[in-house]
Amino acid sequence: MAASPENPAPTTPRRKPGRHRGEGQWAVGHFTPLNGNEQVKKDDDGLNVRTRIETIYSKRGFDSIDPSDLRGRMRWWGLYTQRRQGIDGGKTAILEPEELDDEYFMLRVRIDGGRLTTEQLRVIGEISQEFARGTADLTDRQNIQYHWIRIEDVPEIWNRLEAVGLSTTEACGDTPRTILGSPVAGIAADEIIDGTPAIDEIHRRFIGNPAFSNLPRKFKTAISGSPQLDVAHEINDIAFVGVDHPEHGPGFDLWVGGGLSTNPKLGVRLGAWVPLDEVPDVFEGVISIFRDYGYRRLRNRARLKFLVADWGPEKFRQVLQDEYLKRALLDGPAPELPKDVWRDHLGVHRQNDGRFYIGFAPRVGRVDGATLSKIAELAETHGSGRLRTTTEQKLIVLDVAEDRVESLVSGLESLGLKVNASPFRRGTMACTGIEFCKLAIVETKARGASLIDELERRIPEFDEPITININGCPNSCARIQVADIGLKGQLVLDDEGNQVEGFQVHLGGALGLEAGFGRKVRGLKVTSAELPDYVERVLTRFQAERAEGERFAT
Ligand code: SF4
Repeated sequence: MAASPENPAPTTPRRKPGRHRGEGQWAVGHFTPLNGNEQVKKDDDGLNVRTRIETIYSKRGFDSIDPSDLRGRMRWWGLYTQRRQGIDGGKTAILEPEELDDEYFMLRVRIDGGRLTTEQLRVIGEISQEFARGTADLTDRQNIQYHWIRIEDVPEIWNRLEAVGLSTTEACGDTPRTILGSPVAGIAADEIIDGTPAIDEIHRRFIGNPAFSNLPRKFKTAISGSPQLDVAHEINDIAFVGVDHPEHGPGFDLWVGGGLSTNPKLGVRLGAWVPLDEVPDVFEGVISIFRDYGYRRLRNRARLKFLVADWGPEKFRQVLQDEYLKRALLDGPAPELPKDVWRDHLGVHRQNDGRFYIGFAPRVGRVDGATLSKIAELAETHGSGRLRTTTEQKLIVLDVAEDRVESLVSGLESLGLKVNASPFRRGTMACTGIEFCKLAIVETKARGASLIDELERRIPEFDEPITININGCPNSCARIQVADIGLKGQLVLDDEGNQVEGFQVHLGGALGLEAGFGRKVRGLKVTSAELPDYVERVLTRFQAERAEGERFAT
């Protein structure tokens, strides 16, 4: 049984209360909730809200929802209230939560490994059109996110999703979130190892499991055996990265403690090699460390990255081995630097079985229910019915015969979905922003889409890989710190001294083995209206002055 305030044995207290007692760690016997969030979780597990949604809230309506469910436990089932329409970004920090809450919800569908069938995509599209006013955004964690959801419709949406093997279980909340997986797992010609069996086993054992549904905060997982390093492993709480061990063959290099937001940290290697069939047990060990030793006193220190930073990789590995796995892990090699700078799998690529996969790009992840249904139709008539979402807000159709490639490409392009996309469409991501997010200060999705159009018109000859990530607030849902150009939404002053929407600029971030955070350019803020001019200037100057082989981040 898991350590918990109600069930402290057998794992606790593992250590004598020491200097970390004040961090609210269960493993040192600190079970008294030290903040409101911890109290809510102690009062009732987040997973239990489902019964109340099905039997009470969906029947009696929005006003019947208990506030601690509304702003807390609903998340365990992928539900957040969305921002009340018409409230400008200047009011975000000063209004009470209930003044920002709309009576509609955002609902996130978890798609572990980004794997979808056309049947599933069709159901996602139908739900969008019937219950979500046509909305459906591809997120950078391979999920699909709806807006405008009424609580009355949630049980029916769950029925439809679950009938095709999808769910919203722990899509949000202090839980093990969607498990990222290589979008080309099992089909890529250059794959080191296919992590899919581990993703499925982790899902089976740990998702919706009450032993792991009260974590200090969210827990993000990435598993990829692609040499393209295609799941942003550096910024996940735990990541398994495909490597070839010189003696033991293909397996995974173990990383822990990555995460962005307001205190960004890149994950660190533990120097351990994990074979495929041991990945779920190692996952269990690491998530158990987080549950038992994670800091629960302050929300802004409750991610695993703070514990990893305090312990360091050697101690973390030692605790994992000694207290959880009860055995030593094998040492192993680090991943190699990928050959390709793009990690999005866009374009037409030959699979390991001779067929092709085709990656394509909407603008900043924005699609809609009707388009998803048409994509499902195309995937069915051109492939075998399999699709994948990517961590770059893109989609891939798998298993296309060579003589069907051209027809699929033109079908996608006729829907406005680019297979041969400009670097701007490929490389620009945007978070939800002020349209629906209660924490937002500025608009992001429409801004990102119009920026792509402007740059394509102004500098069509630009051909460098470039990432432009746009966030609506200081959180980092769109990974601003690891973009070539990261844009953090905030209010800025225009030339007349008026407060208007704009961005703090970060330059030169990157993922990959040369990962690093972009530099905040001191004092460099641009208004939203000036954004296309600013980005055009930066890119034009870079193209004119770059040395041979130089990338933007260098
Ligand atoms: Fe909302 Fe901020 Fe995240 Fe954007 S970065 S989705 S505005 S919390």
